[in-house]
Amino acid sequence: MGADGKTKERSGNGSLYREFLKMTILPLIALGLAITIYCSYAYTSSMHKQVERGLQNVALTVLAAYDTMYEGEFRLVAEQDLYVLYKGDHKLSGDDTILDSVKRETNLDLSLFFYDMRMLTTIRDENGDRYIGKYASERIVDGVLKEKNPMFFDNAKIGKDTYFGYYLPILSEDDTSIGMLAVARPVSDVDAVIHDNIGRIIGIVLILILVTALLLVIFSRRITDVIRKIMGLLQEMSKGKLSAKLDHSVLNRGDELGDMGRFTVKVQASLRKLVERDALTGLYNRRSGESRHQETFRCGRDTGERYCICIGDIDFFKKVNDTYGHEAGDAVLREVARLLRDGMAGKGYVARWGGEEFLIVLEDCNVEGAKQILTEILNRIREHVVEFGEERIRVTMTFGVTTGGVQADPAAELAVADELLYCGKKNGRNRIVTELEKDEETEGDVT
Ligand code: GH3
Ligand code: MG
Ligand code: MG
Repeated sequence: MGADGKTKERSGNGSLYREFLKMTILPLIALGLAITIYCSYAYTSSMHKQVERGLQNVALTVLAAYDTMYEGEFRLVAEQDLYVLYKGDHKLSGDDTILDSVKRETNLDLSLFFYDMRMLTTIRDENGDRYIGKYASERIVDGVLKEKNPMFFDNAKIGKDTYFGYYLPILSEDDTSIGMLAVARPVSDVDAVIHDNIGRIIGIVLILILVTALLLVIFSRRITDVIRKIMGLLQEMSKGKLSAKLDHSVLNRGDELGDMGRFTVKVQASLRKLVERDALTGLYNRRSGESRHQETFRCGRDTGERYCICIGDIDFFKKVNDTYGHEAGDAVLREVARLLRDGMAGKGYVARWGGEEFLIVLEDCNVEGAKQILTEILNRIREHVVEFGEERIRVTMTFGVTTGGVQADPAAELAVADELLYCGKKNGRNRIVTELEKDEETEGDVT
């Protein structure tokens, strides 16, 4: 993992991504299954109902057609050892005209029973002969003939085939059962339609599940990616690296994850302030001043960029404390720090080096330039009156300034700046001493 916010991808039960998918895709699959089963069941039973209604309509129509065409009752007459079916005076045995024409129109099979014996039918056996002279099963006799109720079967066995069969009782004028009209449709015929449509339902549900699962995977991945980026920043912070940045894509989000990212960055800024800044003055503390100075030294050596190192110290500060009290001294420190910071704007950085001592790094300038900047700052400090209650306090400062990047290491250039400061103190304070004036300083005052 690095400052770019990338963390190791977790796996198994410890992975939020997997948990997301488990919590969404498993219920989705269960829902898909439930929808498929319910739709298949509902479609199958509605198809059966539809088939039943269709067969019923045909049965009623055909029976009405017989009644319209041939007046009188169905009756069985024995002729030369054979039973012959009549409707009124019309001989029906051998006359399959009505049933055949209905079969042609509807592709449905029809059978006319006298009592329980199949007398006319469109169904043929394997030899192509009409499937007549056969008896209806006991349950049909019981249900349709005895109870005089129409019955629908979804597994009526006729010959070798299984049919949807609708059996309509034929009643005589005195309301006794004398036969049945059966309309049948092969189960295989209806099943083909049902399977075809259920296949389509399963296909649609599968596509919907796949599309939704894909969207969930993309969504989960996006969410966990953002969380991982925030986690990356937190991990960097936990290692004490407070300069890691959070991806802009996270900071620009308008949702809770965006808030989480923004809060993390704020926590990082607060921590950085706590760790890097001096509580009294708000300047960099010695630790971060030191590390910044080391960075400047390294950078100056690598790029050849010029800079100046300066140590400033408030003159007779102990006297301020002794005269006006420690709190007044604190107020002076705060004001001096502000003047230093304001005077530095954009030219480098200031750190509180010790009690009333400050490290000032002036970037991109030589000693003359540094002296010019510090002179302006010193003038403002000299003129500034710190108001503390009734008291009006004025202070001066002494600065030691040297060229940066010419010594062997950062500590050596600090030692030179310190030495120059000491020189200034020794020679009257309230001044800026650079390496150029050092020799003169040893002889007399220069400000
Ligand atoms: P010189 O001109 O030689 O620098 O004299 P000085 O009195 O400024 O130097 P000295 O080192 O004798 O005294 C520094 C004083 O600064 C001593 C210490 O009590 C005070 N001091 C250090 N830190 C703080 C602080 O945070 N607040 C206050 N009010 N005083 C502080
Ligand atoms: Mg001092
Ligand atoms: Mg001091």
